[in-house]
Amino acid sequence: MTSTVDLAQRLGPRLVALRRTLHRHPEVGLHLPVTQAAVLDALAGLGLEVTTGEALSSVVAVLRGTAPVEGHRPVVLLRGDMDALPVTEEVEADHASAVSGVMHACGHDLHVAALVGAAHVLHELRDELAGDVVLMFQPGEEGPGGAEPMLREGLLDVAGRRVDAAYAVHVTAAERPFGVWFSRPGPLMASADEVRVTVRGAGGHGSAPHHALDPVPVACEVVLALQSAVTRRFDVFDPVVVTAGRIAAGTVNNVIPDDAVVELTVRALSARHRAEALAVVRQVAEGVSGAHGLTADVVVDHGYPVTRNDESEYSFAREVVIDLFGGQRWTEMPNPEMGSEDMSFVMDEVPGAYLFVSACAGPDPTAVPDNHSPRAVFDDAVVPDVAAALAELALRRCRIPAAGGPGSLD
Ligand SMILES: [Zn+2]
Repeated sequence: MTSTVDLAQRLGPRLVALRRTLHRHPEVGLHLPVTQAAVLDALAGLGLEVTTGEALSSVVAVLRGTAPVEGHRPVVLLRGDMDALPVTEEVEADHASAVSGVMHACGHDLHVAALVGAAHVLHELRDELAGDVVLMFQPGEEGPGGAEPMLREGLLDVAGRRVDAAYAVHVTAAERPFGVWFSRPGPLMASADEVRVTVRGAGGHGSAPHHALDPVPVACEVVLALQSAVTRRFDVFDPVVVTAGRIAAGTVNNVIPDDAVVELTVRALSARHRAEALAVVRQVAEGVSGAHGLTADVVVDHGYPVTRNDESEYSFAREVVIDLFGGQRWTEMPNPEMGSEDMSFVMDEVPGAYLFVSACAGPDPTAVPDNHSPRAVFDDAVVPDVAAALAELALRRCRIPAAGGPGSLD
């Protein structure tokens, strides 16, 4: 019996070539026609049930296993995001970006190649696959978000039965040595919401603030009061981050403007603190403004929810990775990260696990540029490992009886 790792290694050169083609032709956002065409081409001939998105250039492919199953036939979802970033690549390589101002600076080109690899491996091993696999090729992870529209277009029911479990792998350019996998149970990444606070006063002459309602000091007070609120009102072990990344008011030094705008990112690691943080931002903005006789408009733009690893899916995924690559290549993260990820929308609907693996190209992972840097380098030698892990997760997860999920094996 050929293993997923052997099969993926054999596919290695083709997967690396695909990754480099994608790297040369990066695309941003929800509409990735070149990437979509490359995926469709790479999946051709596997006999998959392929659908493409209507609102976005997603690809969803269902791969049917042919192993006999008694009772519930599991459905496993594997996800790879496909989009690049508006970054000008500064890495010199034959496969460096040929598109000015756009770069696969987050390694999603590796994700696409790995998911294509998993499709080929699972196709080879379909006689051992006791269920069906949904391959989710997703645009727009870096914004404005592709997972949610894919869910609206029926992603989780595309196989004819609801998805039972979902997995995703993300590569990093730094942080850990090459080939080391890492993740953690429970909260892994933060929710991220945008809030726009407009402090409304009444403009006037800069020399006579008593005849005006100056929104500028009030906006500054709102920003500082929010920092106090974060430390005084939230348990430090379930952290909240509120950052005012932009503050804007006025036109010239001697004119008091009518209003001042503060734009915030609000991050949390639990649904409860996410909701409370947004409520506190509103309360503080309105309260501080009101204390000075001004008003505040608070507009929330909800972003991605908390990415949370299901405890039993996490243990299962960890076991699979350790079985394939050895315990020395697994690290449990002590803490979550405050970045965000729209795989969270999928994992809010079905239990899942999200893993990182290092594709660090340098000898010292603490000394090289990380994801999103114009100088980030991803070693695509990791692609076959990611393909093997995704395929193995699907194969083994399909063998687990439906009732209790992976935990039922304990
Ligand atoms: Zn990313």
